[in-house]
Amino acid sequence: MEEKMEWSGKYRNIYFKICNFDYGDGKKDKWTFYVYINLNQMPRRIAEKLWLKPKRTKFPSGYRTHYDYYIWPFKDMDFHSGITWYSKQTGFDKDPRIIQVGCDYMHLWDKEQLYNQNYIESDVKQCIDSLYRLIPNIKQPCRYCGKFMAVKEENPIHESCQIKSDEFSKKYTQVKS
Ligand SMILES: [Zn+2]
Repeated sequence: MEEKMEWSGKYRNIYFKICNFDYGDGKKDKWTFYVYINLNQMPRRIAEKLWLKPKRTKFPSGYRTHYDYYIWPFKDMDFHSGITWYSKQTGFDKDPRIIQVGCDYMHLWDKEQLYNQNYIESDVKQCIDSLYRLIPNIKQPCRYCGKFMAVKEENPIHESCQIKSDEFSKKYTQVKS
């Protein structure tokens, strides 16, 4: 039986997922990791570039959609042996556009190597660091309303949100005392 385990996390305000597959055949287990890029968090011009146009290839069984994802910045990100996955996670019907990009540890040279969750997690963090290196002006969520702001500092807050937050804590302290 195939068993799948998943771990999700967030690092520098970017979500990621680690997957482990055990095929139950006594062979080594397999790992993958994915980084979720919310295009609202990207500078506008870059965001449009990352929402790839689908390519359609005809097979005897029908058409298949795929993407030419071996482009900047994906090809320069620190994926394990390069990106092997691109998909559109959400972004239909006016939802925010979120893409999923990832890689796997199933190459020939991975056969002798033992991996574990901590190992992959440190890789995925490095991969997110590389995204920040390539795109230093990734927007950060306001810590009050969650909307993305074009600032580099982590945990920013809108001025108007700061006022609301102050009012809230004042009220809360009054009720308490
Ligand atoms: Zn705000």
